[in-house]
Amino acid sequence: MQIHAIKTGTVAIKTRQQQGGRGSGALRMMNTMLGPTWTNPLPIYAWVIEHPEGVIVIDTGETARTAEPGYFPWWHPYFKLAVKEFVTPEEEIGPQLRTLGIPPQKVRWLIMTHLHTDHAGGLSHFPNAEILVSRPEYQLAAGLNGRLRGYLPNHWPDWFSPRLVDFDPQAVGPFPESFTLTRAGDVHLVPTPGHTGGHLSVIIEREGVSYFFAGDASYTEQTMLDQVVDGVSLDNQIAQQTLQRTLNYARQTPTIYLPSHDPDSTERLTTGGVVFAEGRPVPASAV
Ligand SMILES: [Zn+2]
Repeated sequence: MQIHAIKTGTVAIKTRQQQGGRGSGALRMMNTMLGPTWTNPLPIYAWVIEHPEGVIVIDTGETARTAEPGYFPWWHPYFKLAVKEFVTPEEEIGPQLRTLGIPPQKVRWLIMTHLHTDHAGGLSHFPNAEILVSRPEYQLAAGLNGRLRGYLPNHWPDWFSPRLVDFDPQAVGPFPESFTLTRAGDVHLVPTPGHTGGHLSVIIEREGVSYFFAGDASYTEQTMLDQVVDGVSLDNQIAQQTLQRTLNYARQTPTIYLPSHDPDSTERLTTGGVVFAEGRPVPASAV
């Protein structure tokens, strides 16, 4: 089973969004948007897994169309104040898949961790895939309310009609619910709400190691280890619970942790860098 990282350009956000905000709810969001400092441009990763049962893609990255005037809603403060994206047409996921020798129409499953624009921007490359989105995520992102929350459902392809995932009461480590995708039972979707209300992560088991595709459940491995809630989570408690479960999972199972915007994700993927490699102390608080 081959796993590839695809970097679809970069995104800069406010440091507070990445490193943790202040306050809660809408106030936290406002505080983040008004933050004085920016991160460096961070990678926007999507992932491709050549699974024996079919090619799996996790997230679609961003589109070069974001450079077109009017692509982002002028009236939305987040896009005005708190995000800068840099994507060229060749960096979109479709062309990069073709370079890997994987025609996008050959993709069997496309799993969306959530529907923010930098994850859903490449949807148009996958008209033939079965697309999976958690039911609450789809409900939060669709329509006018979705637009107010900062999603861009107006840019979804006309044919976009994902399979809405309801989780089963089947525990995967500390996650009490999951959805198992493959007959082999080696690909699990687990709910990891916080960054968005319907966020999910994907756990793929291969040769005794778990590849944990975290989406934006945390921006980096370090913020997960430090249990730092990001600056756009609307419910601190829910986000905290997700971070705690993720840390506990990594304690119990050798885990390669792969957030979408962590500059070190690809190195961990290629070198097999697990969270708790020998010599790194396991925090007692994670018991
Ligand atoms: Zn996001």
